[in-house]
Amino acid sequence: MGLTRDFFITLSQNQALNSAAKRWGLKLGAQSVVAGTNIEEMIASVKKLNAQGISATVDNLGEFVYEREEALKAKEEILAVIQAIHDHQVDAHISLKPTQLGLDISYNFCLENLREIIEKANQYGIFVNFDTEDYGHLQPTFDLIDELSADYNNIGTVIQAYFYHSMENIKKYKDFRLRIVKGAYKEPEHLAYQDKKDIDENYIKLIEYHLLNGKFTSIATHDHHIINHVKQFVKQHNIPKDKFEFQMLYGFRKDLQLQLVKEGFHFCTYVPFGNDWFGYFMRRLAERPQNLSLIAKQIFNK
Ligand code: FAD
Repeated sequence: MGLTRDFFITLSQNQALNSAAKRWGLKLGAQSVVAGTNIEEMIASVKKLNAQGISATVDNLGEFVYEREEALKAKEEILAVIQAIHDHQVDAHISLKPTQLGLDISYNFCLENLREIIEKANQYGIFVNFDTEDYGHLQPTFDLIDELSADYNNIGTVIQAYFYHSMENIKKYKDFRLRIVKGAYKEPEHLAYQDKKDIDENYIKLIEYHLLNGKFTSIATHDHHIINHVKQFVKQHNIPKDKFEFQMLYGFRKDLQLQLVKEGFHFCTYVPFGNDWFGYFMRRLAERPQNLSLIAKQIFNK
């Protein structure tokens, strides 16, 4: 399992494969977990989710961008997504990754790209979530949030439970709308828990802390053990349903997504779309090699 995870995470960061895949269209089964390659397809998917009582957080796929032109293109695309969310009046907000907007090129360049995005989203009352990436980009991401949140309050971020120091971060961002996840990247032992049991324990502590704090909490997991625990916890502590939501990725555990809606919980699906799908898809395979069955199904259905 460890070796398989490392293998897919290494592939997810392979620049040559990431670039090549942009020209392939959605392949290898990615079409099951990526909601199309353009805005029209994405909006159609969001409308379907909304009709089922599910809101969406839209990710115009892209990460680890090293060329200014590519980062500027990503910015324009995200601005177009914001416009489309507004024009179609769908129930959706934005998720983005700072490395897609040039964090590795220059901090200030990325800051200005983000400022433009947040300004436009703010005009339309649309929330923008800063996804958290690998450890090397974590502090610069928090620095960006600190600067931008001085001017805007439509920003939130993600806390990754595998880091030993995540409780300090959740305390620092206690007044923000936060998504809490286990963590998707490969991090060394001196920074992050490696065992599922330790990650799960810390994950629960973080979720409970933020829920009790009264700020909006997005519990982003496919793990029914965690979800069941949260259901009990919110009941015991009388935490109102409008103070939290469950989130899952597009294409995963659809029955459970609908079941939670049926039980009256707020639910938000993470909707990735676009040509830059390879890294995202490889991380999904790293998390759960059973996802390889998605590939098999796609191949045999052809
Ligand atoms: P896992 O630990 O992968 O699974 C636990 C158990 O749940 C499994 O053993 C199995 O019993 C069950 N299970 C899981 N998946 C399935 C399935 N498909 N079908 C049936 N049973 C299943 N990571 C980041 O680092 N940064 C981010 O910004 C970020 N954003 C995210 C946003 C969303 C909406 C989600 C859902 C995840 C995000 N992640 C992010 C990824 C996250 O960190 C985890 O890597 C990922 O969610 C896998 O962990 P898990 O909590 O789903 O459960």
